[in-house]
Amino acid sequence: MSAAEWVPEGGDVDTLRRAATDCRGCELWEPATQVVFSAGNPAAPLMLVGEQPGDSEDRRGIPFVGPAGQLLQRALAEAGVGVADVYVTNAVKHFRFTERGSRRIHATPQINHLKACRPWLEAELQTVRPRLVVCLGASAAKSLLGSSFRLTAERGQVMERETPVGPLRLLATLHPSAVLRTPAGPEHDEAFGGLVADLRTAARAVAG
Ligand code: SF4
Repeated sequence: MSAAEWVPEGGDVDTLRRAATDCRGCELWEPATQVVFSAGNPAAPLMLVGEQPGDSEDRRGIPFVGPAGQLLQRALAEAGVGVADVYVTNAVKHFRFTERGSRRIHATPQINHLKACRPWLEAELQTVRPRLVVCLGASAAKSLLGSSFRLTAERGQVMERETPVGPLRLLATLHPSAVLRTPAGPEHDEAFGGLVADLRTAARAVAG
């Protein structure tokens, strides 16, 4: 399983986005409504990589427009990161879910989905050439850093790593949906504050 045969050589983000509509690199395309590629500034210094689109994103075809995306926008604003400073995408471009009655419940993508979809992420990295990649959650970090990556151990640190697309500067933090899941009150405030602090670290790293 791999998206490689659908990824065009060269071309800009719009070319990649158009090509991804035909991708059959794994089975996730079939039950999903549509591919959800990326949004934001293709010349941005920061690339934010999430896990996969959610229910709202799948319906609208735009990443980070659901509740987790709205929380991310608030965290970015609080960290002083402007819209023009970010390009947002996901490690997996189709929504993986299970059906429960009329509801579609998020299902974490497996390692084989991350691997299958990685050619798109690699093409985006080569096209956007961000100064820093922020991995939102463990799935995005594992896609770029391998399955042994542990978010709890290395969260919030600016790392320089060799990857299949060459050396990258990366920082891993919580996925905004993990912050959303924390109960309202001090635990939630701490999780949100941690996400904001990590985004501030990322912003400082590209400004310096
Ligand atoms: S999830 Fe990725 S590899 Fe799988 S079909 Fe969608 S775009 Fe292709």
